[in-house]
Amino acid sequence: MKIESLLAQIGSQSEPVTGAVSFPVYQSTAFRHPKLGQSTGFDYARTKSPTRTVLEDAIAELESGDAGFACSSGMAALQTIFAYFSQGDHLIVSLDLYGGTYRLLEDIMARFGVSATYVDTNDLAALESSRRESTKAVLIETPTNPLMMITDIEAVAAWAKQYNILTIVDNTLLTPFLQRPIELGADIVIHSATKYLGGHNDVLAGLIVTKGEELSERMALLHNSIGAVLGPQDSWLLMRGMKTLALRMERHEYNATRISNYLLTHPAISDVYYPALETHPGHDIQKRQSSGNTGIFSFKVKDARYIEPILRHVKLIAFAESLGGVESLMTYPAVQTHAAIPEEIRRQVGVDDRLLRLSVGIEHADDLIADLAAALELAKQEVEEGVAVHE
Ligand SMILES: *Cc1c(COP(=O)(O)O)cnc(C)c1O
Repeated sequence: MKIESLLAQIGSQSEPVTGAVSFPVYQSTAFRHPKLGQSTGFDYARTKSPTRTVLEDAIAELESGDAGFACSSGMAALQTIFAYFSQGDHLIVSLDLYGGTYRLLEDIMARFGVSATYVDTNDLAALESSRRESTKAVLIETPTNPLMMITDIEAVAAWAKQYNILTIVDNTLLTPFLQRPIELGADIVIHSATKYLGGHNDVLAGLIVTKGEELSERMALLHNSIGAVLGPQDSWLLMRGMKTLALRMERHEYNATRISNYLLTHPAISDVYYPALETHPGHDIQKRQSSGNTGIFSFKVKDARYIEPILRHVKLIAFAESLGGVESLMTYPAVQTHAAIPEEIRRQVGVDDRLLRLSVGIEHADDLIADLAAALELAKQEVEEGVAVHE
């Protein structure tokens, strides 16, 4: 079946007793046993709970994996995955990384003796030279956030396999609608489902998908033991969002393409980072391994003094810290999402004080362009005249 149909039908044929088309929220932590030695398949909700199970089965199928695990946030999903590793283990990680992942590795995992080296994961020579005997996994984000760097998943997974190194892909920005890393050789996929999968800026959630029996069993143990699981209400809300994922992603891509093309020719903008643009260095790989583009991109203004007035003057676009929802949000990565990353690394990858990130929603593109045009014009006036413009 095609992915649009799988998405629309999540949970719709899973409730045999009443035939409920919207799978119910089973708000129960305990489940009665028919008799000693028997179980309905549900015992205690941390281990397994009905609404969450429907969601977990859905994401496993969507990502072509063997098992799915729903967690209370994307970070909880990453922590659950990192608990797979032991003291002395080493990870190779994308250089341009989500700030929270970097913080989890450096402030927490490092204290438990799990170390990480940050490299451009599209450079196989860099992967090879950072590999140690103790390297157990490579963690990639593609596209990266915020600079939209693309890594060839198939090439990295093939490289990793020869050394028994696991390939973990953070697929938050593309979702299984546009990119399925396990089909390209990855072992584990992780999502901040808070973003496009949920899609409405209203639910915090993380998902893990594993490939292979042993890995899936181990992840089930970690998921249950750590206990950072997703509750039934949020599982339901996430499934409700996922049903429209295909439609939303198509509109996000259409809008982001139009707006990135508009900014590309704007005199106040120096760079636009969006893989859909043919000028983007990762354009060809992205086209080969994904069926479309995400709705988020970044751009640099020519003068850092534009930043503050732009953020003050956007109206339809909210100055807020997230991505992937139906409402457009603008973020200033250097002080928000990527503040946890040391300035030296931020500079190296290009997350500087002129960079803005735009998560393009599903509003009409004309309105979004008009909002940006007005904010840029007011910013220009303020910078030229040296005074704040009040409307
Ligand atoms: C937001 C995000 C995370 C963290 O997810 P939360 O749901 O906020 O805990 C991890 N990776 C990426 C790429 C993200 O955008």
